[in-house]
Amino acid sequence: RPETPRPLEVEGVTVRFAGLTALDDVSFTVAPGSVHAVIGPNGAGKSTCFNVLSGLYRPVSGTVRYGEHLLTGLAPHRIAALGVARTFQNIVTTEGTVGDNLMLGRHALTRAGFVSSALHLPHAVREQRAHLARAREIAGIVGLERHFDQPVALLSYGDRKRVEMARALCLEPRVLLLDEPVAGMNTTERTAAVEVIRTVREQLGLSIVLVEHDMGLVMRLADEVTVLDFGRRIAHGTPDEVRQDPEVLRAYLGT
Ligand code: ADP
Ligand code: MG
Repeated sequence: RPETPRPLEVEGVTVRFAGLTALDDVSFTVAPGSVHAVIGPNGAGKSTCFNVLSGLYRPVSGTVRYGEHLLTGLAPHRIAALGVARTFQNIVTTEGTVGDNLMLGRHALTRAGFVSSALHLPHAVREQRAHLARAREIAGIVGLERHFDQPVALLSYGDRKRVEMARALCLEPRVLLLDEPVAGMNTTERTAAVEVIRTVREQLGLSIVLVEHDMGLVMRLADEVTVLDFGRRIAHGTPDEVRQDPEVLRAYLGT
């Protein structure tokens, strides 16, 4: 879709669990078409932040806006339908071929519906063909074209992570939320993943928010970085600015 991404604006978000403040008045803006990383030591509030963005957690105060849309309070599927899609840190896909999994992603967009598809009505058949072509294109963007007809269960860990990303991309999002995209990968897979994320951003022109533990990945990929520690935003800026920030060094080195 040619539509340009809107800014994703997080403003004054606070999340509490029982007595614990997991996010404390956190704000940041993801510029259209940029890669924005949210980093921080263990327990900093990264996953909580991700879950607020994708609609799994509702903050006690603060808002998340995507352009004119208020996302806070919306169910996860409504947020996805507005163009903000997420991947999961733990791989859920083990069944079917790569193509099957991507077509499941496309079904959320299918207007013709299952009944007319099953009846092979001409418009449904046309729509199905267009979805299949687009699913192949997206497989190509993440480097899975050769594996399109292979069972997911036979793929390497790195390739299964690509399937997860491609499945989210099949929803045609304008913002892609990535939860620790390189967790569990070896060095080769990490390098490949950085390339995939770059290609996705360039070819699809979307914004990417990545929640990540791996500083090296963040430094290579992000335009802007928000650093959390104990639920508070302790730094914000370009990777170079953040890397030299004394508060960030203290948080990471624990001194
Ligand atoms: P990170 O992803 O940066 O490691 P989290 O967002 O997972 O941090 O956690 C932030 C804080 O909130 C931690 O102290 C964690 O124990 C707590 N926390 C996270 N999720 C829950 C929950 N569902 N219930 C209670 N406490 C939670
Ligand atoms: Mg986490």
